[in-house]
Amino acid sequence: MVQSSVLGFPRMGANRELKKANEAYWADKLSRDDLLKEAKRLRLEHWKIQKDAGIDVIPSNDFAFYDHILDHIQLFNAIPERYSQASLDPLDEYFAMGRGHQKGGVDVPSLEMVKWFDSNYHYVKPTFQDNQTFKLASDPKPVVQFLEAKEAGVHTRPVLVGPVSFLALGKADRDQSVDPISLLDKLIPVYVELLEKLKAAGADTVQIDEPVLVLDLPQKVKDAFKPAYEKLVGDKLPKLLLATYFGDIVHNFDVLPAVQSLYGIHIDLVRNPEQLNSVIEKLGSNQVLSAGVVDGRNIWKTNFKRAIETVETAIQKLGKERVIVATSSSLLHTPHSLESEKKLPEEVKDWFSFAVQKVSEVVVIAKAVTDGPAAVRDALEANAKSMQARASSERTNNKAVKDRQSKVTASDMERKSPFPERYAQQKKHLSLPLFPTTTIGSFPQTKDIRIQRNKFTKGEITPEEYEKFIEKEIEDVIKIQEELDLDVFVHGEPERNDMVQYFGERLDGYVFTTHGWVQSYGSRCVRPPIIVGDVSRPAPMTVKESKYAVSISKKPMKGMLTGPITCLRWSFPRDDVHQSVQAQQLALALRDEVLDLEAAGVYVIQVDEPALREGLPLRSGTEREKYLSWAVDAFKLSVAGVQDSTQIHSHFCYSEFQDFFHAIAALDADVLSIENSKSDAKLLKVFEDKAYPRHIGPGVYDIHSPRVPSEQEIKDRIAEMLAYLKPEQLWVNPDCGLKTRQWKETKAALINMVNAAKFYRQKY
Ligand code: GLN
Ligand code: ZN
Repeated sequence: MVQSSVLGFPRMGANRELKKANEAYWADKLSRDDLLKEAKRLRLEHWKIQKDAGIDVIPSNDFAFYDHILDHIQLFNAIPERYSQASLDPLDEYFAMGRGHQKGGVDVPSLEMVKWFDSNYHYVKPTFQDNQTFKLASDPKPVVQFLEAKEAGVHTRPVLVGPVSFLALGKADRDQSVDPISLLDKLIPVYVELLEKLKAAGADTVQIDEPVLVLDLPQKVKDAFKPAYEKLVGDKLPKLLLATYFGDIVHNFDVLPAVQSLYGIHIDLVRNPEQLNSVIEKLGSNQVLSAGVVDGRNIWKTNFKRAIETVETAIQKLGKERVIVATSSSLLHTPHSLESEKKLPEEVKDWFSFAVQKVSEVVVIAKAVTDGPAAVRDALEANAKSMQARASSERTNNKAVKDRQSKVTASDMERKSPFPERYAQQKKHLSLPLFPTTTIGSFPQTKDIRIQRNKFTKGEITPEEYEKFIEKEIEDVIKIQEELDLDVFVHGEPERNDMVQYFGERLDGYVFTTHGWVQSYGSRCVRPPIIVGDVSRPAPMTVKESKYAVSISKKPMKGMLTGPITCLRWSFPRDDVHQSVQAQQLALALRDEVLDLEAAGVYVIQVDEPALREGLPLRSGTEREKYLSWAVDAFKLSVAGVQDSTQIHSHFCYSEFQDFFHAIAALDADVLSIENSKSDAKLLKVFEDKAYPRHIGPGVYDIHSPRVPSEQEIKDRIAEMLAYLKPEQLWVNPDCGLKTRQWKETKAALINMVNAAKFYRQKY
């Protein structure tokens, strides 16, 4: 019999109950007991969903209040002293590491949080001391939750993060210099102790995640696997299924322990189906292959035919007893259930599968390969019909879009003239001073703005009333910018709910869910729009607001768009056409918008691409270069239609460009604005080293905090920047948009910023 398994289930609940409970607890509106009760209820519900669906191997310890890596930090007592010495209750200590704690005389910031591989989930980075020790927590959570499931009649396979990934994904604490991987010898005994306890509790198999195996690893990390895993086998320990996802492991297969010591290996066959044969060849003679064929990263129905073929290939070589059908990764990255969606067009809803549905898909595939297709005939037929309907739908086949794409040429991606000529014209046209000042687009999104937008969405005010309100907001921010004496104005983006959703709602080819929430970090969830078909722009999206802003302002107005890669990355993309095709469609839609803005008198246009870096393939090499090439092309296609005298800006919320500087340079944007106030000005050195010829506005202050930077601070910051950038290259602006700020600190900070710019203007 071929078993079915799930690597992890979303934690939030059908209605984001965990988010609500956590936040109520943080706000002292829910007791600890009630939070614990709610979490237990969710765990039991999620196990039941999987059990009722017929899953053979159900995960436990995939639940986390905040983040599963943070769970392991506490589990192994890798808790920096600043938290442990606060003598908080363990749950509060846990939240203190995740989100900081400022209560009852304790004031600690959170640990660093970073993106989980190339997903939009964020994990808490383990932070180690030079004299780090580890100690297993009493009542270890994996054991407690295994027993909890057992008591509810569900036999589970606990999930742990493996020791090598746990260390390799961490870092030395501030002021410490320890190389995390050197701590392996100290950590392994704790894993042994934990595994023994799991076995004693009745766990026969444990899923041990080593996702770092899909990365390019430093030799030291590679060398860590063998010694680590050799110690994790024994009669007193459960069998280990080593799980990898989000990439292929062929390049790292040799670093694995004498493979016989592992019960089996899980690989992601959605992302890298081509690794199947190489991995099978390397498996030991009794080892199990867990075949990840149901995508844990998106919302599309699995193509049963294709998935069954893949699993059959494995069965032919290994036999039914040695193959498990599984999700490609944890389902953490998918929304809870499609059942909650009442507003999706029926045609499109039939193409989707959220976590609850994916669980059933795994069961169908396992049954099909165990008992033969006849056993699940209805499901297979319905699936084939759905695949067929999607492939031939008008939504996925917009002839006009495809025709236009077939006519795109390399010259469409190039500006009319090289930068020096463009700049000469822009200078005349825009008459900007040295050290021009501007902002990144949004101004504070006040409560009033939210209220009015809500009223408008609910139909409580008319479109005309809402438009009047937005115009008034635009007038206000323009007046403020005049008072502040900024040089390039923005309209403030009051009409935008979210920088991707706003555009998605105005493009054909997108749909939106009402409950499609995915955990981003802690209690924060996002609801990505979904690209279902060929994308096109039925009508201008931002022109009305920008044009109005131009009509009432004395200074150049900057139009504000979200770039093709960011629109793509912060949505659920299609899985039936390459992402480069979707990016190009978005680019063509934006190109029309850019030209319409220009025609409306907007001669400075900013196309934000903060998501460019997170799309980078996990490993360096050809894949990465290919991505950068089509991503850069998409950006250039979106902006290159303008006149030389129109100035193109782009914005990035970070300044670590070392790994892909050539791509940033290739964007050929006239002005880049980037984050720089929280990072080191030294990062700007690469612009000097590579003789970057165009203009740059490194953020002079942090917009994530209400703190007002003094004029002197900003002057000092500009001085640091001038060590690497020429005065005629430098723009002066904040790090990012101001939408999350209050007006009070925004004005105060911008006054200081403009004064600092004026100081340098006089000096040069
Ligand atoms: N223009 C956007 C804003 O100012 C940019 C946001 C971002 O970079 N994330 O809000
Ligand atoms: Zn930003």
